[in-house]
Amino acid sequence: MALDQDAPGPYPMIIGGKPVTTEDTFAVTNPATGAVVGHAPQGTAAHLEDAVAAARAAFPAWASTPDADRAAACHAIAAKMEEHAEELARLITLEQGKPLGGVGSRFEMGGVSAWSHYTGTLSAPMQVLVDSDKERVEMQRPPLGVVASITPWNWPVLIATWHILPAIRTGNTVVAKPSPYTPLSTLRFVALMNEVLPAGVVNVVCSDETTDNLGALISGHRGIDKIVFTGSTATGCKVAASAAPNMTRMTLELGGNDAGIVLPDVDPAAIAEGLFWSAFINMGQTCAALKRLYVHEDVHDAVCEAFAAYVKNIPMGDGLDEGSVMGPIANQMQFDKVARLVADAARKGTVLTGGAPGEGLFFPLTLISGLDNGDALVDEEQFGPALPIIKYRDLDEVIAKANAGPTGLGGSVWSADVEKAREIAKRLDCGTVWINQHGMIRPDAPFGGRKMSGVGVEFGQEGLNAYTDIQTIIA
Ligand code: NAD
Repeated sequence: MALDQDAPGPYPMIIGGKPVTTEDTFAVTNPATGAVVGHAPQGTAAHLEDAVAAARAAFPAWASTPDADRAAACHAIAAKMEEHAEELARLITLEQGKPLGGVGSRFEMGGVSAWSHYTGTLSAPMQVLVDSDKERVEMQRPPLGVVASITPWNWPVLIATWHILPAIRTGNTVVAKPSPYTPLSTLRFVALMNEVLPAGVVNVVCSDETTDNLGALISGHRGIDKIVFTGSTATGCKVAASAAPNMTRMTLELGGNDAGIVLPDVDPAAIAEGLFWSAFINMGQTCAALKRLYVHEDVHDAVCEAFAAYVKNIPMGDGLDEGSVMGPIANQMQFDKVARLVADAARKGTVLTGGAPGEGLFFPLTLISGLDNGDALVDEEQFGPALPIIKYRDLDEVIAKANAGPTGLGGSVWSADVEKAREIAKRLDCGTVWINQHGMIRPDAPFGGRKMSGVGVEFGQEGLNAYTDIQTIIA
């Protein structure tokens, strides 16, 4: 296979501030072309031990670094990533597939900058709870120690930012492990970060998808004080089980199967674009994308028609082509899952657009109506460019259907009456509910899942506090 010349490399692991290469490497491929993008080191258990030791050694000095200096480090990281935004965006596109422009990899790098700066503005100071002549009660918020970050392949650098920045802001040190599908951008991200941080504060190890047991080793490692994990619910359960014997602290951001409810008062043409981005951002490979759409029978046909007409015009192609709005599915495993679910749904429902696999890892944006709870495309998190549309009549019944299932990440209500939508939002059993939009996350608003969508929240003050311990001092 041809080497894609856009990604120079090499991409070493970073341990204790030093680049670490291995003789054994694995190839990372571009999902749009199959070309080899670069090679990543094959990290071993010994590399993990070195990384944990480096993070542990760096911890005392970093934990006692003045708070203002750690805030400044977040802004310095933001500036460094802004300087290298185009390089990292191209690398993300090459290994993950999303387009450079639009809501693609440059957008992802914009998020990296925004979240890094915002984290620099937050702090988790000591609070005085009681201060009288007789007594004083203080609540300290010391860092936890060594934080392990385990990330998925869908928004590789942005999710690593969500993990690493609050961890170091509060005085922890980090061992990061990217997905074996998208290791290069995270390796480069951590290398750049190390240009502005003391050695050992942020380390990164990786290995390939067949021998990838570093995640499991990290989850059960006694030298790790907290795990922040973003990935599937199935893997999240394994992480929690491995972490239990050590009582390792955890934040788990897991899968979702977000429902949207469209009320009869909407203007179908006016919501088509919003529905499109809600469902198909990053080819639907987004945890909090719209995954099931329930539409009231009064507007069902008109919504289907307007939505399908909008979706049919979306350009899809190689992410490096500036004209592409959608790219390929990011890897074969994900492609096979989407193809299986769509084939099943196409037999049961009505394909409004798309429906059959394209070339390579390209899959057309797919809308299928005539489905219901109980059909696999409705019940399972498809995590791809296929949206089931379900007709409903009764509000209570549709809320019950939206709340059915084991996950509870996000949901949305679409209506001309925002106050009515807000009341319905409160009845949805999920961590975030959007009104007339879906999936828009912000650095200042806590984000997390209910039920099997996770444990804890990220972002905002609540998210930052999760990287600290509480110590109460009573005098
Ligand atoms: P995944 O669970 O397969 O992998 C996630 C990470 O865990 C990878 O780095 C992987 O190498 C590692 N891993 C694998 N086995 C492990 C083990 N036994 N112990 C520890 N780590 C292990 O998920 P994925 O396919 O990379 O990502 C897609 C999933 O992530 C979807 O379910 C999606 O909903 C979820 N996701 C959730 C959020 C959120 O914020 N809730 C955000 C993005 C993605």
